[in-house]
Amino acid sequence: MTGERQAWLIRGAQPLGGEATDLLLVDGLIAAVGPGLTAPPGAQVLDATGLVALPGLVDLHAHLREPGREDAETVQTGSEAAALGGFTAVHAMANTDPVADTAGVVEQIWRLGRQAGLCDVRPVGAVTAGLGGSRLAELGAMADSAARVRVFSDDGRCVSDAVLMRRALEYVKAFDGVIAQHAQEPRLTEGAQVNEGEISGLLGLTGWPAVAEEAIIARDCLLAAHVGSALHVCHVSTAGSVEIIRWAKSKGWRVTAEVTPHHLLLTDELAASYDPVYKVNPPLRTQTDVDALRAGLADGTIDCVATDHAPHPTEDKETEWQAAAFGMTGLETALRVVHAAMVQTGLLDWAGVADRMSARPAAIGRLDGGGSLDGGGSLDGGGSLDAGGAPLHGRPLEPGSPANLVLYDPAVTAAVDPAGHASRSRNSPFAGMMLPGQVVATFLRGTPTVLDGKLAR
Ligand SMILES: [Zn+2]
Ligand SMILES: [Zn+2]
Repeated sequence: MTGERQAWLIRGAQPLGGEATDLLLVDGLIAAVGPGLTAPPGAQVLDATGLVALPGLVDLHAHLREPGREDAETVQTGSEAAALGGFTAVHAMANTDPVADTAGVVEQIWRLGRQAGLCDVRPVGAVTAGLGGSRLAELGAMADSAARVRVFSDDGRCVSDAVLMRRALEYVKAFDGVIAQHAQEPRLTEGAQVNEGEISGLLGLTGWPAVAEEAIIARDCLLAAHVGSALHVCHVSTAGSVEIIRWAKSKGWRVTAEVTPHHLLLTDELAASYDPVYKVNPPLRTQTDVDALRAGLADGTIDCVATDHAPHPTEDKETEWQAAAFGMTGLETALRVVHAAMVQTGLLDWAGVADRMSARPAAIGRLDGGGSLDGGGSLDGGGSLDAGGAPLHGRPLEPGSPANLVLYDPAVTAAVDPAGHASRSRNSPFAGMMLPGQVVATFLRGTPTVLDGKLAR
């Protein structure tokens, strides 16, 4: 994965959108940052004039589908999509076949990620055996495995049993893990197809009420506080959820949350087309919800953006609405959508994007070397590529940090064309949409995975 490491001098990049400067990458680390750096002998030089430099993006939530649904995605193609989207670390959800609920399966996924070598694939472990919702999976064995699992989720399903949720939260305290909850009260969403509201009435489809999400989030915040453990809320989609998380954080409880790019940009009015490309779990909501999600991400109530990249083969999506699978691809468009929804609207600057798409998700995934979520210490001395057996991500673009970074051209605008995506699936809701920006280059520990907007190897 690491291979031979050459030196790279990146000229004239704008770290976090600031003043243009040079970055020198040597032996997997950022060796120097400053104007007018000299290229050491043998170094490759990359002209980054006009490009924003951000720390490599970290995705807390993607479905890479391997093992079991290699017709939709593999760890290889998902890693390619991630690199092209500017990601250097991606968490792979556990709802594979077999389910990632043992040390053996998470190690298999982790090894496939290392073989692909394009980003650090971080397996998420299932909370309950087989995602069955009746008994805990082998959380400790997955945490102790070579994959060093710290994030556990039954995503795709909700851990709806309050006793099991409490036990899981208690269990992961021993190794500083976090339970990532897919908040969906099952009885309130039986047969649900679209957001409950005007559109569901218009279409005659079963509605998916906001309270089905909010009730579980409220319960889980209280449970996390009760046992003093860490809860992460997946794909927050309603204004009420943002309010509940804001309240929980005001109490000092260990609650973090993510929002997807699609929930930041799209509304349920798109479902009126009856095109299942807009069918997703949780469903697209209203403009009021979109506005609250954007405000929540801007003020830090929502910690981070996570893609919930959910590839599906054409036959599972291009069918009638009720029969179609839930989910959208997102790895290759995430940064562009956040640019449109948050930066062009003036809600976040590039430093804010770096925080919400790299530093904070790295901290939640326990990849930042510790401390940054709690405002505590940072790494001493620097110069390290990993912490506690897990690769380091989300570190600032400064000497001593691992050379994980993305170079992004904010000046271009182009239509999204899923036919050109590396993902094995084509179910992008942004197809044909004009979006700003392009990922020009991605570096993983000093080695380019993407150059000139294409895979480098
Ligand atoms: Zn989910
Ligand atoms: Zn998901």
